[in-house]
Amino acid sequence: MAMMHDHSQAGDVGILLIVAGPSGVGKTTITRELLRRCNAVFSVSATTRPKTTADTEGVDYFFLTDDQFEQRRLASEFLEWADVFDCKYGTPCRPVIEHLDAGRLVILEIDVRGARQVKDAMPDAFGIFILPPSEEILLKRLRGRKRETEEVIQRRFAEARREIAEAREGDLFDVLIVNDDLEEAIDAAVAAVETERARRATR
Ligand code: 5GP
Repeated sequence: MAMMHDHSQAGDVGILLIVAGPSGVGKTTITRELLRRCNAVFSVSATTRPKTTADTEGVDYFFLTDDQFEQRRLASEFLEWADVFDCKYGTPCRPVIEHLDAGRLVILEIDVRGARQVKDAMPDAFGIFILPPSEEILLKRLRGRKRETEEVIQRRFAEARREIAEAREGDLFDVLIVNDDLEEAIDAAVAAVETERARRATR
């Protein structure tokens, strides 16, 4: 495959990195820093959720209608997909494969059900799960965002508790990081990725 505009260094091996964790845990900020500090590429998901003013088409998500999403799902264009809070989200497969083939570190910021599908399809994927310091603090953070109604907050909180329990139980995630202090959590995530990169490079 042509390696046009590839910024990875010679010897780098492609790694698929899953970053998951409940909403309100700081996952997006941590992902952004991982992209910068680990020279990674972000997998832009497709979604049927409405675009907000904070979103840029093709950068944050590809915004699709239900029909468009369904067509792509049926054509097996998604590596994984899930219903999250009544909207559909999916990872387009092709860009992921192309970046991995080019030796890049590819980050998927997806939910736990999506993470399970990815691990089943690609057992070599490396999973990081971000935890809140406590459930009480997560609830406080969700309320502090002032983004949603109390009813929505309670749904997200219930979903968060389910995801946390699932992440703690199984072997789906390689590393669990508690986001107590944001800088420390970012450093821990970067260190986990660099350690994994080094381990694979000498394999
Ligand atoms: P938001 O709409 O707030 O950006 O994302 C809502 C949730 O959907 C987050 O937990 C996020 O991780 C998850 N999500 C985003 N993209 C994907 C995807 O492609 N697949 C899956 N399974 N979940 C996703």
